[in-house]
Amino acid sequence: MISFIGAGPGDPELLTLKGKRLIDDADVIIYAGSLVNPEVLAGHKEGAKIYNSALMDLDEVIDVMEEAEKAGKKCVRVHTGDPAIYGAHREQMDRLDKLGITYEVIPGVSSFLGTAAVLNKEYTLPGKSQTVILTRMEGRTPMPEREKLVDLAKHHASMVIFLSVGFMDDLAKQLLEGGYEPTTPVAVVYKATWPDQKIVIGTVADIAQKVKDAGIKKTALTVVGDFLGDEYDLSKLYDKHFTTEFRQAKE
Ligand code: SAH
Repeated sequence: MISFIGAGPGDPELLTLKGKRLIDDADVIIYAGSLVNPEVLAGHKEGAKIYNSALMDLDEVIDVMEEAEKAGKKCVRVHTGDPAIYGAHREQMDRLDKLGITYEVIPGVSSFLGTAAVLNKEYTLPGKSQTVILTRMEGRTPMPEREKLVDLAKHHASMVIFLSVGFMDDLAKQLLEGGYEPTTPVAVVYKATWPDQKIVIGTVADIAQKVKDAGIKKTALTVVGDFLGDEYDLSKLYDKHFTTEFRQAKE
């Protein structure tokens, strides 16, 4: 049984209890060394074999899993954030299916949630946006035709853009083309929840320059939308004049 584990965004205390227990118990650990905080592995067993998947291709990763499985060793595959978001996770599960190797998935705190937390913001502000779009820009790998940033921008939803901080000029241009106001707030968070985290706040019009000035080139999320502003409606859930399943409205 292989355990896929979401390591969370960086802060090792944001690992789930289950993820930590499995990592601490593992004989073989394969982790995404480019992004996973090594501190997450700090409790590993003495003698555990540790592989950095940043240096491996898919075949090599699967070979290590297969070998561990044959030897009856406990193997964990540690992904940054949650494996279900840009984790290249599915292709590994499909290969394990073919080999008849079982696996389980332990979710983690995705960096887009770590980012909202360090910004003290809520993506779903009543009266502003009730939809969150998680996406990325077209870079070295293409985007499906109907998911271009300029098209997604038309919704004016809260938007979280992964893997794209290297293309900020183009990103801001596409947001404008898609119909966001130049004054729409934007935040770029570098290494959310890590000790060297950086937060840059701006607007669609000026964020690209601010990110350049801050020297941020990778490991950052761009979040866009009026949820970053201060205008919104109060929720009905906690409105004293609104009856819910658990509470009667007061006069
Ligand atoms: N599975 C991960 C995402 C992997 S893709 C998750 O759920 O978060 C890698 C991209 O995620 C990075 O290029 C960056 O855009 C973002 N990212 C990962 N960790 C981050 C962090 N701590 N702070 C900001 N962005 C992060």
